[in-house]
Amino acid sequence: MSTNKVALITGSTSGIGLGIAKNFASKGMNIILNGFGDTAAIEEIRAKMAKENGVEVRYNGADMSKADEISAMIQSIESEFGAIDILVNNAGIQHVSPIEDFPIEKWNAILAINLSSSFHTIHSALPKMKEKGWGRIINIASAHALVASPFKSAYVAAKHGIAGLTKTAALETAALGITINAICPGYVWTPLVEKQIPDTAKARGITEEQVINDVLLHSQPTKKFVTIEQVAALASFIASEDAASITGAIIPIDGGWTAQ
Ligand code: NAD
Repeated sequence: MSTNKVALITGSTSGIGLGIAKNFASKGMNIILNGFGDTAAIEEIRAKMAKENGVEVRYNGADMSKADEISAMIQSIESEFGAIDILVNNAGIQHVSPIEDFPIEKWNAILAINLSSSFHTIHSALPKMKEKGWGRIINIASAHALVASPFKSAYVAAKHGIAGLTKTAALETAALGITINAICPGYVWTPLVEKQIPDTAKARGITEEQVINDVLLHSQPTKKFVTIEQVAALASFIASEDAASITGAIIPIDGGWTAQ
């Protein structure tokens, strides 16, 4: 069933990244999982994905805040598989706080994981993609790459940065068979969203239920969370041959949020 295509999805032990990995494995791609979590639980996910889909599934635990670990991960994948065909930059964290209280170490960690890691993966993976004359790079940005919300200074700055990196890298590779795009989800129900609800309630002085209905879903005219499966299906299309003319695009999947 394997297509022989190799996809690295950063931050794929949970949430959107895991959903994309499952979708890609079901299409016959070989998968490299990355991200933090319980070792036994990750091994269970890895083994199940490989067995159910008849593909190779590896796990690399590189810390996406560390440039040297990122380049070592890319090198180890290339030495086993030749090149990464599809790179999904998905790892991300969040912190919600007014700017004057925003911890400096949180600012630095969010910029490193949500923005700089994508520069480092692209920097390391691009030479082999260029040699092959084929590649797909999909950056999981956010509606916050296009619009802001209060109390998310680092996240919004990093995601706007990803939009700029996407456009620049796309122009540098447009004639080479490589596409580089950003997917911009609205709110998707994952641990990242669930964990920010108590801090958002505190920062805004409202209840957690009000955060869900009056802050999160208030942004989305559909009044529904985007699903992990919908984001994964969009990533799968962007990775396909049919999407060869889509590059440098910043693509919302946000229930109408950024149409307002
Ligand atoms: P999640 O918390 O479920 O998953 C985050 C993943 O990143 C996990 O696998 C985690 O282990 C990994 N990770 C975190 N720090 C890491 C590090 N230093 N090194 C390696 N891996 C690391 O979150 P999610 O909601 O699935 O978010 C995935 C991406 O989607 C993020 O970039 C996020 O900004 C973006 N996004 C999420 C939403 C949403 O509503 N959930 C909306 C728009 C964009």
